[in-house]
Amino acid sequence: MAIKRRDLLRAFGTAGLAGLASPREQKAQEQTARATRGLPIPKIKDISVIECQPGGVRLTVVKITTDQDGLYGYGCATFTQRADLVKPAVERYLKPFLLGKTTDRIEDIWQSCYDSSYWKNGPVLNNAISGIDQALWDIKGRQAGMPVYQLAGGKCREAAASYGHADGADFPNVVESAKRYMAQGFRHVRVQVGIPGMAGYGSARGDSQIKALHDKPVFEPAYYVRRALKLFEVCRKELGDEIELLHDMHERVSPNQAVQFCKDAEKFKMFFLEDPLSPEDLAYFRQIRQQCATPIAMGELFNSPHEWTPLIGERLIDYIRVHVSQTGGFTPARKIAIMSEIYGVKTAWHGPGDVSPIGHMANVTLDVVSYNFGIQEYSPFNARTQEIFAGCPVMKDGYLWVSEKPGWGIEVDEKAAAKAPFTNGANNLNGGWGEIRRLDGTVIKQ
Ligand code: MG
Repeated sequence: MAIKRRDLLRAFGTAGLAGLASPREQKAQEQTARATRGLPIPKIKDISVIECQPGGVRLTVVKITTDQDGLYGYGCATFTQRADLVKPAVERYLKPFLLGKTTDRIEDIWQSCYDSSYWKNGPVLNNAISGIDQALWDIKGRQAGMPVYQLAGGKCREAAASYGHADGADFPNVVESAKRYMAQGFRHVRVQVGIPGMAGYGSARGDSQIKALHDKPVFEPAYYVRRALKLFEVCRKELGDEIELLHDMHERVSPNQAVQFCKDAEKFKMFFLEDPLSPEDLAYFRQIRQQCATPIAMGELFNSPHEWTPLIGERLIDYIRVHVSQTGGFTPARKIAIMSEIYGVKTAWHGPGDVSPIGHMANVTLDVVSYNFGIQEYSPFNARTQEIFAGCPVMKDGYLWVSEKPGWGIEVDEKAAAKAPFTNGANNLNGGWGEIRRLDGTVIKQ
């Protein structure tokens, strides 16, 4: 169908065709109009940031409003530990950069936002870009009348197998927690047990006290290693061989302890061990790989292609586990998924409570369109969260289901969000974490 000047005028107005737009921009707009059969191309009219804390964790969502009535989109920009910094990154830098641009060129907008700070790949700026990127995908889906998964090629599975967090202060509590998930249909559980007197990751601490040279929370890697290996033994005995066991080491041990731990855990046939090393110690993954076949998941702290590319390219991990908004949004995460497929690495997107429901829907969208999907981390949405975010991904029998509505399929009730503002937290750190120290007072990675 030939595009008439009348259609272009309707899409851009006279200013868009001949007034404000340069010849180069005008040519680009005409090309876009042809590609979209002369339909009006939305322009970015406003960008705002919605902040709320409905479940104890700070959530940040970017909203892009277009110049077309009722057409807008939402994107996850959640960086809980430094949440207050993401809003000005969006409002003071990306908003003036993007106002008036058309919404249709997502890749171009992503690349230009990424380059506009000159220095890049930090968590605040990546999350700000993610909010923009995911909001643009939402808009494109709403325009097309399709869920985003259709824009990415459609499903290659019905729903995303997920794992829940089974934890407790002692072994029987963990087993009981895991059985509750299994009764709901889960075939995968992450198991974490407390260490008496210590601040173990992902579990209750228990009542006992431990003597240290300071009054901060205590963690000793060697205690943890012995306790976790015992937990796997108990879980296999009490839960059987059919359940898939996962465990998060949270980068808390030395590189050599991590190598030893992964070797010692091999006999328990784990689904994966997560974050055995910190991003500062990536080179040690080669040693783990050479010495055992325990599946390894890594990446929730990654911000930069310099971190994930070597691990995937050298086949040093089995599951790439980035926090999608930390990488810059749906657009870069889709590229990570495709690169991973080529190298035989599966996906396990980070999905606990510090991802907004918009971000969870982006995760599940990647899950259903990526052939190399591995597993999805699941965190339930409480009633207050569901009141603010209508249309959260649905959990059924251990599977998360993607929305069939256009875009991400989620509507945000901004009035309800305003009733759940950020709180300062018990430690007065605006969402930041405190410190954890060894018995002698040495601070550790959390
Ligand atoms: Mg983790």
